[in-house]
Amino acid sequence: MNKRTFVKLFSAVMASPAISPLLTWAAKDKLKNWAGNLEYSTDRLYAANSLEQVRSYVKEQNRLKVLGTRHCFNNIADSNDGFLTLKSMDKVVALEPEAHTVTVDAGVTYGQLCPLLHSKGFALHNLASLPHISIAGAVSTATHGSGERNGNLATAVSALEIVTAAGELVKLSRQRDGEAFLGAVVGLGALGVITKVTLDTRPTFLMRQYVYENMPLAEMKNHFDAIQSSAYSVSLFTDWQNQRISEIWLKSRVEEGHAFDATPEFFGAKRATKNLHPIAELSAENCTEQMGVPGPWYERLPHFRMGFTPSAGKELQTEYFVPRQHAVEAILAVERLHDQISPHLMISEIRSIAADNLWLSPCYEQPCVTIHFTWKQDWLAVKMLMPLIEKELAPFKARPHWGKLFTVHPAELRSIYKKLPDFIQLSKKYDPHGKFRNEFLSTNIFNS
Ligand SMILES: Cc1cc2nc3c(=O)[nH]c(=O)nc-3n(C[C@H](O)[C@H](O)[C@H](O)COP(=O)(O)OP(=O)(O)OC[C@H]3O[C@@H](n4cnc5c(N)ncnc54)[C@H](O)[C@@H]3O)c2cc1C
Repeated sequence: MNKRTFVKLFSAVMASPAISPLLTWAAKDKLKNWAGNLEYSTDRLYAANSLEQVRSYVKEQNRLKVLGTRHCFNNIADSNDGFLTLKSMDKVVALEPEAHTVTVDAGVTYGQLCPLLHSKGFALHNLASLPHISIAGAVSTATHGSGERNGNLATAVSALEIVTAAGELVKLSRQRDGEAFLGAVVGLGALGVITKVTLDTRPTFLMRQYVYENMPLAEMKNHFDAIQSSAYSVSLFTDWQNQRISEIWLKSRVEEGHAFDATPEFFGAKRATKNLHPIAELSAENCTEQMGVPGPWYERLPHFRMGFTPSAGKELQTEYFVPRQHAVEAILAVERLHDQISPHLMISEIRSIAADNLWLSPCYEQPCVTIHFTWKQDWLAVKMLMPLIEKELAPFKARPHWGKLFTVHPAELRSIYKKLPDFIQLSKKYDPHGKFRNEFLSTNIFNS
């Protein structure tokens, strides 16, 4: 992200016969991302209520971007020209128990889908730290949770419907469309407007969450594999101070053979005696239930509860995916920067993600660990720190999260994503004149 991201640029609200502009945005407040660090470059925002409205709006426009739930920290979703929101296209279209799939309109969030799925006896394989995000926006950026055996959230996609730049509806499925499908799922919003997503489901399950405090860094270093594979989903939180992992969140299924044995000590860390927030000083009120209380998967896999503000709110985020075999070395490389990092940090999180075959997934053909930073909202400090961290992680060919802040050079992105040239070709097939391109895509993908 560059300075321009913080510059205000507003253009007039224009009406379209098929689409109603959401004038409330224009009247009250400027259109910003969730964290408020990014004022979008236009507040022209149109809401589509049907596939036909999407198609006619796309045909009319020369350039546009789709806005999901606005949870990206960089300018990947930004537009100088106009936004389309599918927020009111929020129906669960079909639950197909025999195919083990559910199909949803692209405006649906995980928070809307999950309780419904659970009530019908089904589950998704994993979730991010919060349920508030749109499914279409999350899969477009390869959003992930944790778990050595869990792919990122995009790996659950088995089919997509996309309105291309010409206003045509294209249907792509894992079963039928091979490589084109694998290229389109983590699409960064470059191929068109996703109008429907089909996700794999599995029988619903219950989970328990335990939190441990204060693991010496040496234990993490010596037992990283055992720690990461000890539960269905494992998150390590650290402020990089005092050579310790401050909290370890372990999420396990309750059934025999899957359950986590919650001993009082875990690799030198002590089992917590009350619910905790990842940032220990903050109230755990907005966090999912801990202390081993069983509950449905969708109320344990995220760290934050629906209906509450997730994370800290006023913050910035960066995150890097490191090939799994370099996990400990990479974590220790970041730890060496603790004096520079800590004053500007709220908390860091380390997670594991399984390999996949989606072209622009940071886990393409390699399992990864992610090293995440929730920063205080001090852009100048974060802008200085990112290159330092990226330099430490460069030997491991670390890949930045597509939806968070980074300064990795486009040429570097090209060298670490071998499928990037194929992705460019695929995008050009559906969007030959760059209708869905913005500054982020032009800089990082198409000019790289
Ligand atoms: C508090 C917080 C916690 C987070 N936790 C995690 C986490 O645990 N793991 C993780 O990996 N990430 C996490 N993120 C990042 C977040 O999941 C991603 O940024 C995700 O992309 C957000 O989805 P969105 O709908 O809000 O995206 P937006 O910012 O609205 O859009 C993202 C991209 O998707 C495109 N897009 C959206 N909808 C469509 C559509 N219908 N058709 C075509 N393109 C579309 C947009 O054009 C844009 O390119 C977190 C973010 C926040 C703010």
